[in-house]
Amino acid sequence: MKVKKIITVLSIGAIIGFALGFVLSFEQFKSSFNNIIANRYIQYRMYRLIALDLQEFLNKWLIFTIIISFLLFMIWLLWKLFLKNIIDIHIKNKSGFRILVACIACSIFLFYGGWAINHYWLPHRFHPISLLGSIGIMLFTIFLGWSLIKVRWKIIALVLIIPLAILNLGIVADSKINISKKPSFILIVCETLRADHLSCYGYERQTTKNIDLFANIAYIFKNAYAQAPATMPSMWNIVTSRYQSAMPAKDEYVTIAEYFKSKNYRTAAFISQQHLESREKANLHQGFDVYDSECEKDHHRLSARRAKSVTDAAIKWIEQNKKWSFFVWLVYFDPHDPYIPPDSFRGYYNKTEKFSGDRRAKGINHKGTNNHLVTEKHKQFLINAYDEEIRYFDYEMGRLFSYLKRSGQYDNSIIILTTDHGEELGDNGNRWDHCQLLSQEEIGIPLLIKMPTQREKVMIEDVVQNIDIYPTVVEFLDKSHLPRYYNTLEGKSLTPLLNRERLNGKRFAASFWHKQQCIIMGDYKYWIWGGKEYLINIKTKEEITDLTIRDKLRSYLNKIYRVYIKKEKNYYKKTIEDLKSLGYLQ
Ligand SMILES: [Zn+2]
Repeated sequence: MKVKKIITVLSIGAIIGFALGFVLSFEQFKSSFNNIIANRYIQYRMYRLIALDLQEFLNKWLIFTIIISFLLFMIWLLWKLFLKNIIDIHIKNKSGFRILVACIACSIFLFYGGWAINHYWLPHRFHPISLLGSIGIMLFTIFLGWSLIKVRWKIIALVLIIPLAILNLGIVADSKINISKKPSFILIVCETLRADHLSCYGYERQTTKNIDLFANIAYIFKNAYAQAPATMPSMWNIVTSRYQSAMPAKDEYVTIAEYFKSKNYRTAAFISQQHLESREKANLHQGFDVYDSECEKDHHRLSARRAKSVTDAAIKWIEQNKKWSFFVWLVYFDPHDPYIPPDSFRGYYNKTEKFSGDRRAKGINHKGTNNHLVTEKHKQFLINAYDEEIRYFDYEMGRLFSYLKRSGQYDNSIIILTTDHGEELGDNGNRWDHCQLLSQEEIGIPLLIKMPTQREKVMIEDVVQNIDIYPTVVEFLDKSHLPRYYNTLEGKSLTPLLNRERLNGKRFAASFWHKQQCIIMGDYKYWIWGGKEYLINIKTKEEITDLTIRDKLRSYLNKIYRVYIKKEKNYYKKTIEDLKSLGYLQ
């Protein structure tokens, strides 16, 4: 059997396998392609994410091509060795055979390919773009037919297979090449953590021994705010840098994890929150290699898991990936109500178990409408239990930080610790829980940022917001090559503050929750609640009546609302320019 003939047969097999492979892996192509378009990866030139999205499809295509060509070769061999001798017929006319193959291949392409392109991506049949598309498909079919008749089999096979193999290998090689190591990023978001209950924020109890040590070499933002007093919107705010995200987080928003993935970082999230568990509900898994949201069912009746489980999983993953630059997002749950710390932390402040840390069991609702049920002693018990939960979270931070130090990651990483919102602890008319008010207790948050190799503590009084985290990290890592979508982020980089530039109270924070809106600038907070307006001095906590300040803040809030929340298109351009000229936007 001549080698030349074997090559020819293998080439024919490869050509048929290539076409059938595309048809068989088409569903995968469709979903990858739609995802790329929805996420605007082409527009933002995020080529690595395009390649990663197509990887599964390209793998399947190549594997199908190889398997089909091998199968066809085996059939031919069988024919040649045995069957041919039994049924002695074969096609003698070579060009006739080529025409037959060309007809079959062109028919498959024209009918299946043409139908699929028109069905999924082109507008209706008589639309000019569809007509042009169909003409393009016909022209390509003619070219395909001509090649199959005129060009040698092995050349066609090589032209088809080589680029496919290079694409597959290229993507694999890209993911294996360790870029010059850039700082890693560890984002710690602990649920329901009130800044004023952390000792590094001046709390009289030493609740956060380990976080205090971390704070000693970090930027401490004394006036940081969440954009919503609730988990879902607040988490979206953080990872998309948007004031308000539609539900679930939109594909078109490039999440902070997608940013890191596009930089060839290893990415992982360790989640302990039922709301963030579901991909359909939250859509926050975008860009993560690992999205570990396995919650212990019914813990805290909110399907969460203890801090230990999150820390253990994170340490294990970092240990396996520490040779790479990585982004890890940790979501802890413990201080969330009900306040029931693990046994070894229970009783540190509450010396007797007179009450339960689960106020619901006592019939106490969150709105403070049944004040008579909460005695002063019971209130103190709940606050004590809440603080014990914080001590437990802090203990876990101690474990995490000491691992990061041991493994050499502490100094090489940007580490940010914050929360999604605060908590009412019998405040504002004996309220409990959150998701209620844009009160200082619910939207005032801790924000600690440690840059790589940082050695000193810096207190920052300027007003900042949690949507500022994302642009800050991107600017720090990518200052000379900011991504194309950078200007669409709605937060503002904190870099000028980290560089100690004096901004004279120009920064603001805005929050939105149902019919409430508020803006905080300098010492003042303007708050619309229940159809009324309030102007509060946040330092003295007193309501004031300065019409000039009120009108100024009202006007800014109105602009932010119309640009980012209500998104009035005609209003957008001019207001963005106004805000830019005032120095509020870049
Ligand atoms: Zn929350």
